[in-house]
Amino acid sequence: MSDTGAVIAIHGGAGAIQREKLGPDGYEAALAGLREALLAGWARLSAGASALDGVEAAVMSLEDNPLFNAGRGACFNADGIHELDASIMDGKTLAAGAIAASRTIRNPVVAARAVMERTGHLLLSGDGADAFATAEGIAQEPQSYFHTERQQRNLAKARARHLGEDSGPVSDAERHGTVGAVARDRHGNLAAATSTGGMTYKRPGRVGDTPIIGAGTYARNGVCAVSCTGSGEVFIRVCASHEIAARIAYRGDGLDAAARAVLFEEIDALGGNGGLVAVDAAGMVSMPYSSAGMYRGAIDANGMMHVGIYEELVSEPV
Ligand code: ASP
Repeated sequence: MSDTGAVIAIHGGAGAIQREKLGPDGYEAALAGLREALLAGWARLSAGASALDGVEAAVMSLEDNPLFNAGRGACFNADGIHELDASIMDGKTLAAGAIAASRTIRNPVVAARAVMERTGHLLLSGDGADAFATAEGIAQEPQSYFHTERQQRNLAKARARHLGEDSGPVSDAERHGTVGAVARDRHGNLAAATSTGGMTYKRPGRVGDTPIIGAGTYARNGVCAVSCTGSGEVFIRVCASHEIAARIAYRGDGLDAAARAVLFEEIDALGGNGGLVAVDAAGMVSMPYSSAGMYRGAIDANGMMHVGIYEELVSEPV
């Protein structure tokens, strides 16, 4: 049993590959990546660190894992370039930071936190974000660092579809993905962070919901912390993560009811899909998704770790 009261939940994106294509090895590798990220966040939280530290550590672990569409392993845009978005929010102070369309930052969530803590700004984009990283000594990499064969194949497929050479179905896994984390620390503070390569074959300069506070990421002490994944443009139009907090704060909805209403009613009504992870002030976790699957996991207040991609979750004590 945990005695910290800390809780963390993560996602590795709603762009989950179909079960038949993933295979047993792919399934186990994805679950291992989720466990590693949960434990990276949990190690901080159980040592008394802040929710902010917990979500940053978990997202860094997912960014470093080439299986997920963020940091290393990010998708390509239409020019064959990786452009990375990330954000982080502290529910205690409502401070937030974000970067968009970075081409060099190794761990975009680290840069997002630095924007929050070291500038008077909230969101830096493009060359300005990369120059900020250089000035602050934040680790940067050449584009080749972010490349993976899997994303190269996804780009080739998307390009062929665009040119009318391929009219086959395109899966969520080929199109997009994101990583994110939400946490409640032992003092009851909430935080959320999200990071992504965005959508495969997106236009250069396209920015989705991930670095938009109130869309892909939101945290407010006493209410909830939310990190989203899915059709970014729709999540922005719905102000999805803030909408969940608003339903809880103003309507008195429970966390799961609020999260499901936003996903299955509001997002769905606009033709979007995806998922999210959320934690509330009481440490309840919600991880709904409307896609075929969602890489996700949580360590609850009882010290039980749960990970899964499809309907079933594998649970074990930490
Ligand atoms: N929401 C992300 C974006 O639109 C993509 C995803 O989560 O799959 O950039």
